[in-house]
Amino acid sequence: MQNALKSKGLRDTQPRRLVIEALARIRSAASPAEIHDSIDKKGAAINLVTVYRVLEVLREKHLIHQHPCDGRYSLCSMPDASGHHGFLHCSSCGKTEEFVNAALCRMEDAIARKAKFRPSEHVSELIGTCHSCSSRA
Ligand SMILES: [Zn+2]
Ligand SMILES: [Zn+2]
Ligand SMILES: [Zn+2]
Repeated sequence: MQNALKSKGLRDTQPRRLVIEALARIRSAASPAEIHDSIDKKGAAINLVTVYRVLEVLREKHLIHQHPCDGRYSLCSMPDASGHHGFLHCSSCGKTEEFVNAALCRMEDAIARKAKFRPSEHVSELIGTCHSCSSRA
């Protein structure tokens, strides 16, 4: 993940590394408070304001995503893949899966152009039931 910071032109600072490591440990979407808790449990000192600030920087560089439905954060699983990054969120087990689709982005950009709208980012999330939850029912 140090390489991920460098590849995005970010300095490898301790708070940035701690936040990325916490998200990797949690493995699902997490709130700033949960990220902070996880860092705390590892015995590292970092305050919540710093967590928010780091999340904003990482989000701007597309290393992490903020989920539209609940505002939680997760590591981007494909930071170098261009196209639309979106999520399939299972409301029954809470699992979130990321997808990338370039054609979707082109359609969204066409919609934006038509409305003379300048998007700064694309976010989307599909909420429903994942395969393992729906086959268990
Ligand atoms: Zn992504
Ligand atoms: Zn599920
Ligand atoms: Zn898009």
